[in-house]
Amino acid sequence: MIGAQQPSAPRCSRASCREIAVSAIHWRNPRIHSADRVKTWLACGEHVEYLRNYLASRDFPVEVTPVGESVDGLVG
Ligand SMILES: [Zn+2]
Repeated sequence: MIGAQQPSAPRCSRASCREIAVSAIHWRNPRIHSADRVKTWLACGEHVEYLRNYLASRDFPVEVTPVGESVDGLVG
């Protein structure tokens, strides 16, 4: 059906992007988060590298997985 809504579908975390997310970007700020405190952003195929690089450039530990998967923790 054209225009059908999928309210449960995960969306890209990039500002202004409304695409369906396909990847999960798990990250942590070592200066304010403990080792088991992992934040997760979601990204469409177009923005996963943008968001990963954004975090990696700040020296945050980053791990990318398919949407729905989680990580036990991030070493860094
Ligand atoms: Zn996007």
